Amino acid sequence: MIVQPKIRGFICTTAHPAGCARHIEQQINFVKKHAPLKGCKNVLVIGASTGYGLASRIAATWGAQAKTIGVMFEKPAIDKRTASAGWYNTAAFEKAAEKDGFYAKSINGDAFSNEIKQQVIDIIKRDWPERVDLVIYSLASPKRLHPSDGTIYNSELKPIGDAYTNKTIDVMNGTVSMVTLQPASHQDIANTVQVMGGEDWEMWMDALGDAGVLANNVQTVAYSYIGPELTYPVYKNGTIGRAKEHLEQTAKALTLKLKPLHGKAVVSVNKAVVTQASAAIPVVPLYISLLFKIMKDKNIHEGCIEQIWRLFHDYLCAEQPKPLDDAGRIRLDDLEMRDDVQAEISRNWDKLDSSNILELSDLAGYREEFHHLFGFSFPLIDYNADIDVSVPILSIED
Ligand code: NAD
Repeated sequence: MIVQPKIRGFICTTAHPAGCARHIEQQINFVKKHAPLKGCKNVLVIGASTGYGLASRIAATWGAQAKTIGVMFEKPAIDKRTASAGWYNTAAFEKAAEKDGFYAKSINGDAFSNEIKQQVIDIIKRDWPERVDLVIYSLASPKRLHPSDGTIYNSELKPIGDAYTNKTIDVMNGTVSMVTLQPASHQDIANTVQVMGGEDWEMWMDALGDAGVLANNVQTVAYSYIGPELTYPVYKNGTIGRAKEHLEQTAKALTLKLKPLHGKAVVSVNKAVVTQASAAIPVVPLYISLLFKIMKDKNIHEGCIEQIWRLFHDYLCAEQPKPLDDAGRIRLDDLEMRDDVQAEISRNWDKLDSSNILELSDLAGYREEFHHLFGFSFPLIDYNADIDVSVPILSIED
C-alpha cells in the first residue's frame, strides 16, 4: 500500500511504518549517545506507545538497560487502513529492543480496566521475580470507561468560570484566527478529573501493591503541564488543570501508601511538545510554534526524548537527584518557563497574525514534528513506494 498523510483537523488518520521506525531509531540514537544510567531496572510504562511515555520507555531501555512492560491502546492495520502510529512505534521499539537483547513486553488494551491491570500483574509475577522499581504513568485519553460501574467519562478542554477568547491556528493552512471557548459545567470538570486525574494512577499502584509486585524503593511518576499565563484559562486554570491538581494530590497520597516500601510518587511537570494529545488543545499549538522558534534561536529546544533523558539522568536514576519545586514536583519545564523565553513570547503573541506567522513562529518546525508523529516527512523514506502496512508487534499480549 502507498501511505500518505491524511490529516483531518488535529489528527492524522494514516501512519507510515517505516517512518515510525525511523522516529524510534532517532530517539534510541539520542539515548545511546549518553553514558549509561544507574538503577531503574524493571520499568512499567502506562501509555508507552507515543509522546512522553514512548520516550520514557526508550530512555529506560537504552539509557538504564531496563526491562520494560508497556501498556497502550493502539489499532493494528485492518484491510486498507494503516495501523495507528503507536502500533508501528511499538513494533519498531520491540524489534530494536530484541536486536539489542532487551526484555520488552507490550500489552494493548484499555489501561483503565481491571483486566489489563491484572494482565500486567500476571506478567510481572511470571517474568520479574525482582518486581517493578519504576512505574511511569503517561496516559492521555479523551475518555475513560470506569471499571467499577461502567460509566463512560469524557474529558473536556474548557476554561472554568468565564468564556475564554484568544488566538489559535489551523496548523496545516497557517491561518491565525480567534477562538472562544465556553466555560465548563460542574459536570465537565468532574468528568475531566475522572479521565485525566489521579484515580486510575492510584488504582494501578494499589493493584500492583496488593499483588506484591512493587520492589523496595519503588518510584512512580505521572506527567503534568503548567505553562505560561497566556494559556492558563485553557490549561492550568481550566478543566485539565483541575485534573492535574488531582494528580498532584494523588502523588502525595501514594507516597504515604508507599512508605512501607520506602517508595515515592511524584509529578513531573514537563515542557510543551508536539504530541497527539497537545495538538488537540485549542491555542496551545500556536503557543508551541512560537515557543519552538524562541527556544531553537536560544539553542535550548527540547522534544520528548531530551526532556525524558533529563528526567532519568537528573532525578530518577541520579544518586543525588536535583531538588524538587516548593510543591514537591519535578520541573522539566525550567527552560520553557525562563523569563527571557516567556517575555519574548508575550511580545510576539500580541503582534501575531496570519501574515507574519512564518516570520514570528516556527510553524514549519511544528508541522514537521506533527508529521513525524505519524511517520511522515522523514528524509530518505520513499513515501511513493508500496509498503506492507500489516506489521506485527513481537510480544503483543492483548
Ligand atoms: P500521547 O497522546 O502522545 O500519548 C498517550 C499514550 O496513552 C499513548 O501511548 C496511548 O496509547 C495511551 N493511551 C491512551 N488511552 C489509553 C487507554 N485507555 N489505555 C491504554 N493506553 C492508553 O500523549 P502525551 O502528550 O505524551 O501525554 C502523556 C502525558 O504527558 C499526559 O499526562 C500529558 O498531560 C503529559 N504532558 C504532555 C505535554 C505535551 O506538551 N504533550 C506536556 C507536559 C505533560
